Order: sequence, then structure tokens, then C-alpha cells
Amino acid sequence: MSRRKIIAGNWKMNKTPSEAVALVNELKPLVANDEVDVVFCVPAISIIPCMEAAKGTNIKIGAENMYFEESGAFTGEIAPNMLTDVGVKYVVIGHSERREYFAETNITVNKKVKKAFEHSITPIVCCGESLEQREQGVTIDFIRQQIKIAFLDVTADQAKTAVIAYEPIWAIGTGKVATTEQAQEVCAAIRVCIGEIYDEATAQAIRIQYGGSVTAASAAELFAQPDIDGGLVGGASLKPDFGKIVNYK
Ligand code: PEP
Repeated sequence: MSRRKIIAGNWKMNKTPSEAVALVNELKPLVANDEVDVVFCVPAISIIPCMEAAKGTNIKIGAENMYFEESGAFTGEIAPNMLTDVGVKYVVIGHSERREYFAETNITVNKKVKKAFEHSITPIVCCGESLEQREQGVTIDFIRQQIKIAFLDVTADQAKTAVIAYEPIWAIGTGKVATTEQAQEVCAAIRVCIGEIYDEATAQAIRIQYGGSVTAASAAELFAQPDIDGGLVGGASLKPDFGKIVNYK
């Protein structure tokens, strides 16, 4: 089955709203490619102005986080209907920085994934091992656990539309990109895991990205792997290089 590639930028905590608009305008012509899905996941305060700036282009604006309750006394959080109200279709869930600095667990990731689906928002579900786990030889076990818990009580029809981002923690923001073989091996194992939870049709439909120091130089080889359906890109998504990553072929 041929899956449409999805290449998403994760802007993290970078760019003021006016800088964000300027960046969308700068990248617009560079990321024009109708053969892939292009998503800019931007800080919540910049979602609305970026939506305006991206109007009429192939760029979809996504969120970097979302809370798992509908509304109420959760100071500082963003509810799913706040995102859908302004047209957000994608949200990053369970990024390793949120797991590390904001105490997100597999269970909170699962709650957010289910809530995103309830609101027809596509979650980009992040998973990935630490360097220590890789050296201990438990990478695949660890990621299978993250995936199995993230998808608890998620239906096959929902899972088919999900995006999983495999991001080895040791490769995020470090300049150390995983080798093509390492990235493909884990993305293939994630697909097998989805096949076990659901069925082969779901495994073949779900899109799995690689993330971790992707650059214009590494994108083509990574995205050519049979189980890698695009990338989640941090640092390089803030630069004109992102255009080369989107047009990797
Ligand atoms: C990320 O933040 O998801 C990421 C992959 O960052 P970078 O590309 O900078 O390693």
C-alpha cells in the first residue's frame, strides 16, 4: 500500500506571533508540494495568525499540545474544541520534551489521543527511547509499551488515520540523526505492533514518521524507507531548509 507522506514541523517554544507569520510567509513558496501533507505545528498563541498567513496554501497549521478534558479549571491548558474552532486538524501528543519536563506519561498520552479522536483531530503520537535504553537493548520493548498504552481503547478506524512519530530521544536536537537502518528497524517494529493490536489493514494504513535531527541532507534516504512515511522536524523546520525536506525527492 502506498501511504501519503506527512512532513511536519515542530516549532517548539520558538517565534513570537509576528515572527511566526513572517516565517510562514517565507516558507510558503518553499514548501509548495501537493504530493505530501505539510503541517506546521506552532505555539498555541501563533495558531490563529499562522492559519491566516497559510490560507490558500498547502500548509496545515497544527498544535503542539492539547489537554484531555473538555473545559474547566485547568489553568493554562488548551481544550480540543478551542483547536477545532479555529480549524486545527493535527496535534502533537506525547513529545519527549513534554514527557520529560511536564511529566506526561503513557496514560496521559492515551487520554489525549482518545480526546483528539473524539474531536476529529489527528494526533501525531510521539514515542522514542533514551540512549540508555538503546544501549541496554530494550528499545523495541520500550516503544511497544508506549504504543500499546497510547492506543488503549482507540478503535481500528481511528488508528488507521493516526500518525506516529518515532523520535529517539538521543537524536532530538542533538545533530545525531539515527542511521537509516535504525530508523527503519524501529518504524517497522511499530507497524508490526499496530498489526498485533489491530490487524494488517490498520498496520498498513497508519503513517509512521521518523524524527530526530532530520535535515535536507538526511531526509531523502530516511523517507525512502518502506516503513517511514515522512518526518517530524524540529530545528530544521524553522529554516528555509524545511523546503528542501518537504521536496526531498
Ligand atoms: C522534534 O522536536 O520533534 C525534533 C525532531 O527536533 P529536531 O529535528 O531538532 O531534532
